[in-house]
Amino acid sequence: MDADLVVIGTGPGGESLANRAASSGLRVVVVEKHLVGGECPYYGCIPSKMMLRAAHALTEAHRAGQLAGTVTVEPSFAPVAQRVAEQATDHWNDAVAVKRLEDAGATVIRGTGRLDGARRVLVTPAGTSGGDGEIAIDARIGVVVNPGTRPAAPPIEGLAGTPYWTNREALQATAAPAELIVIGGGPIGCELTQVFSRFGTRVTLVQHGPRLLAGDEPEASALLERVLVEEGVRVLTDADPTSVTYAEGRFTLTLADGQQVSGDRLLVAAGRTPNTDGLGLESVGLDPRDITVDEWMRAGGDQAGLWIIGDVTGHGAFTHMSMYQADIAFRSITDAGGFSAAYHAVPHATFTDPEVGGVGLTEAAARAAGLTVRTGSTDLAASSRGFTHGPGAVGLIKVVEADGVLVGATAVGPAGGELLGLLALAVHARIPVETLGSMIYAYPTFHRAIASAIDDLHS
Ligand SMILES: Cc1cc2nc3c(=O)[nH]c(=O)nc-3n(C[C@H](O)[C@H](O)[C@H](O)COP(=O)(O)OP(=O)(O)OC[C@H]3O[C@@H](n4cnc5c(N)ncnc54)[C@H](O)[C@@H]3O)c2cc1C
Repeated sequence: MDADLVVIGTGPGGESLANRAASSGLRVVVVEKHLVGGECPYYGCIPSKMMLRAAHALTEAHRAGQLAGTVTVEPSFAPVAQRVAEQATDHWNDAVAVKRLEDAGATVIRGTGRLDGARRVLVTPAGTSGGDGEIAIDARIGVVVNPGTRPAAPPIEGLAGTPYWTNREALQATAAPAELIVIGGGPIGCELTQVFSRFGTRVTLVQHGPRLLAGDEPEASALLERVLVEEGVRVLTDADPTSVTYAEGRFTLTLADGQQVSGDRLLVAAGRTPNTDGLGLESVGLDPRDITVDEWMRAGGDQAGLWIIGDVTGHGAFTHMSMYQADIAFRSITDAGGFSAAYHAVPHATFTDPEVGGVGLTEAAARAAGLTVRTGSTDLAASSRGFTHGPGAVGLIKVVEADGVLVGATAVGPAGGELLGLLALAVHARIPVETLGSMIYAYPTFHRAIASAIDDLHS
């Protein structure tokens, strides 16, 4: 086959790039081994946020009881499972996404793709093996690779032989288990812990390091841990699982200190493994364990005809990063110019209640980078909005300043991810702190706390 462009793997970025390239008249071949759209719509962002919305609605109903009279709530997981299956994932069916690509003019091949030298792709069609029916595609302009990640399996003795959950099974759950062990206190582990806990599951959250959300500010980690513990989650930090057994429907996890934890489900959310094995990156002189892309997402030099985007580039495993990089790669492919990649203001949000949003550098990362920093923080509960809001108004704002501009910020609170917008703009556009301090912030909003955090800046 001949094409202008081949896209191997359609995470959110690969899918959008392929649609855009095909719509612009390029002959595009898309190679996808599972579902067009990748992890986010089927096993990630969208179904998890639907589950969180439901879990938070239950808690809000309880809070309404404190604010507005008697409320009786009987949790049921059935509407959650139904919404995820029918509205989010179309029963884990990508027909709509495939049709959108085909309508744009792309050819979609269901199979596993790998590079075979520059601008050449070999595809093993789904359902075939041993080279049967292999398709070779020559790409005039080049190849975009967007293979994403899969759940990592930590080296815990006995784990491989058990029916443990990853995010994939958890997001296809049709009922909340009675007792759940979650290994991993990153964003995915914390979000799913709160989902099931709020639906009545007794959850033990096992985190190998000293705190949850290790990539965020320690103050945010402490606050989230406090909230989860108050809600009844058992949080074990500095806990290293060494072995697991499964018998009669129960998992028993043994930790390095000899402690045992049991539950009827085990969710492993302990990091992600890049899908770079078997991609043929070596055939173009690249090391799959050390992928480097330039500011236009090009790999292997500007003449190699290869663009790599998404989680595997190591600039943040987020849908917005995949889409951002796809836009840059598309403009590179079509010589359209415009801005290239800059990563000083990468935002992220964890959609627990309270939400934890962060952008740019944490205080520790800024200091490690050799910056002379000042920090300021404020307690959201102590703000006027926190006072009027009442139950659920826990949170904080923390800002990190260097050379007169914010280099990082954290917003924890109800809609902390939305509060982040203003802070992300400040970090992205390097708005002087003096300007932020002279702004008028509407009273009594949560975002007004940003002014207090800026007032609090000290060495
Ligand atoms: C539970 C969970 C919640 C999340 N929540 C959020 C969130 O709220 N916000 C956020 O920004 N991010 C979130 N993420 C992360 C987000 O899902 C990813 O960052 C996003 O999907 C971007 O990934 P990607 O573009 O690198 O590729 P992926 O989405 O991983 O997709 C890669 C695709 O490539 C295919 N593929 C791989 N290798 C080949 C091959 N050789 N041939 C053919 N096809 C191949 C795969 O089948 C897959 O479809 C979440 C993730 C999880 C697991």
